[in-house]
Amino acid sequence: MTLEEFRTQLRRHKLKATRQRLAVHEVMMELGHASADQVQETLRQRGAAVTVASVYNILAQLADQRIYGRRLSATNKMFFDINNSLHIHLYDRENHTYRDLMDDELQNLVNAHLKRRKFKGYTVEDIDIQLIARPTTRKTKTQ
Ligand SMILES: [Zn+2]
Repeated sequence: MTLEEFRTQLRRHKLKATRQRLAVHEVMMELGHASADQVQETLRQRGAAVTVASVYNILAQLADQRIYGRRLSATNKMFFDINNSLHIHLYDRENHTYRDLMDDELQNLVNAHLKRRKFKGYTVEDIDIQLIARPTTRKTKTQ
């Protein structure tokens, strides 16, 4: 989502394009998936004095409006996702990072399977596929 598309989304949800929201989005454009701490740290490095609480509030509000996605990591940390469309995640359980996987074949298999399934008393509203993985290459020690 470009800065211009982000501005359009804000307008659509009657949110003002404040300097802080735009700064948060610019960081999210680089990080893709990030916690409020990570976004605040990047902003701090660039000389912007914003508290983690303010950053969290901005991210949570954007997620409430479904402008961003939101995921809870295995360490119970809330991560926000700039990509709010349907996609598969690969979660790195050692580094606690997310990667988007574009795998239409897997998504279509699951969708086709679930189309035939019924869950008594429930309507499936959303499908969230996350692969949990660990890195195969270990970092080598530098002397
Ligand atoms: Zn994602």
